[in-house]
Amino acid sequence: MRDFSNDHRWLSLNTATVRKQGDLIDIIDACARHGIRAIDPWRDQVAHVGLDRAVRAVKDAGLDLSGYCRGGMFTADGAHRSEVRDDNRRAVDEAAALGAACIVLVVGGLPQYSRPGSAVSKDIAAARNQVHDGIAEMLDYAKQAKLPLAIEPLHPAYAADRACVNTTRQALDICDALDPGRSCAIGVALDVYHIWWDPELTGQIVRAGKDRLLAFHVCDWLVPTKDILNDRGMMGDGVIDIKSVRAMVEAQGFAGYSEIEIFSNDWWGRPLDEVLRTCIERHRTVV
Ligand code: ZN
Repeated sequence: MRDFSNDHRWLSLNTATVRKQGDLIDIIDACARHGIRAIDPWRDQVAHVGLDRAVRAVKDAGLDLSGYCRGGMFTADGAHRSEVRDDNRRAVDEAAALGAACIVLVVGGLPQYSRPGSAVSKDIAAARNQVHDGIAEMLDYAKQAKLPLAIEPLHPAYAADRACVNTTRQALDICDALDPGRSCAIGVALDVYHIWWDPELTGQIVRAGKDRLLAFHVCDWLVPTKDILNDRGMMGDGVIDIKSVRAMVEAQGFAGYSEIEIFSNDWWGRPLDEVLRTCIERHRTVV
């Protein structure tokens, strides 16, 4: 397992962590100040400053992109199918322009939440079938751009509104069905917030192996959690044994960035430099 205690060269910042403190250019400038050499930006943050300007800023700063957030939301009614396809193709094009290592997929829950305006459905099995088909379609396009797709299983609390792929096993089942030859075109983004509780986690990380482990996200699970979406904890402030999960993925050969992704009303209220200083300190001590 890599030693993170002396530096933060393997720290990547998911830019949603400080989305309330500045725009993407402000965040990139702050990363330069703090010696952070990788980010994972969100599409809305890129759109806000403009794709060309974002591409230039990333290149000028010499930043790596550990991922691009996000593609997905594959579940929709018939009237919104083409929106799903076109939107995800644009995500691939943007990620390619930015030089991202992969596109993180949040696959969608029930159609009315994933693609607002879709007809109401309670059929989660149908939603999961749509996810399978939607990823298959996107994969063809992403392969041409040589952009790997990283399915992020989300905690079951998000099954209705964000993602009906809720375990690492489910995500890997899709990978194996669509890519039996393990071509590295598709894999998983494992976020400790979503997977730490899973009794099957150890076995599924072994099953994933290096080929399928495309991204690793960290934060912490606070007790109590006051808001299921926007009360993620800073690493070390909650109950997740982050080091043991990192040890498991690294035992499989994962050697990429440890990406900090904290959606938190608390941390969004603090100065940008304080948040980044704390991220770096915790990365060295508890990640
Ligand atoms: Zn994540």
